[in-house]
Amino acid sequence: MRIKETNRILPGVTQFRIKTNYLTTNNYLLDFGKKALIDASFAPDEPVDIVILTHCHWDHIYSLGELVEEHEPVVMVGWRDTEDIEKITEKVIPEHSDKELKPVKVDKRLKEGDKIDLGNLVLEVLETPGHTEGSISLWNEEKGLLFTGDTLFNGAVGRWDLPSGNEEMLWESVRRLEALPYKYLLPGHGRPLIK
Ligand SMILES: [Zn+2]
Repeated sequence: MRIKETNRILPGVTQFRIKTNYLTTNNYLLDFGKKALIDASFAPDEPVDIVILTHCHWDHIYSLGELVEEHEPVVMVGWRDTEDIEKITEKVIPEHSDKELKPVKVDKRLKEGDKIDLGNLVLEVLETPGHTEGSISLWNEEKGLLFTGDTLFNGAVGRWDLPSGNEEMLWESVRRLEALPYKYLLPGHGRPLIK
């Protein structure tokens, strides 16, 4: 694991580009009173209160075990990907990781419409299946922030050919996300799209 780059997107939102084995994955550190990390490819030095996982894939949970041991954050994940993180199932694709992934107990199984209160910012959970069945996106309408995991990228869409993936559902999720009036599209890989 290596931090390749850090970018301040706007006050309170920092993008970390993390090299895990052969992939570079985006994590986002949010500080709006409470500190939340979106995806856990790395464990920040500073304590975080909450970790929200966009889905169960190995590169997004790569350092989750260490993060939980160090900071004991509340762990949140879409309900359909929960068991995979607690048991490290084939859906995680653990054979792509160059280190052993630690199973972690999930504290909150997120569902459509759940609100995550970070103090001065509230994230709304959108269930956006298709990349994995439990993939979620996170939306804040006030600031136009949209965290899309591996469902929608800047100029591309996510894969649907991995375990529990579904092409029809992926495109439905993409259409739903594209219809939102976002100002910041913050994906799990590649460059953010800032309008
Ligand atoms: Zn993925």
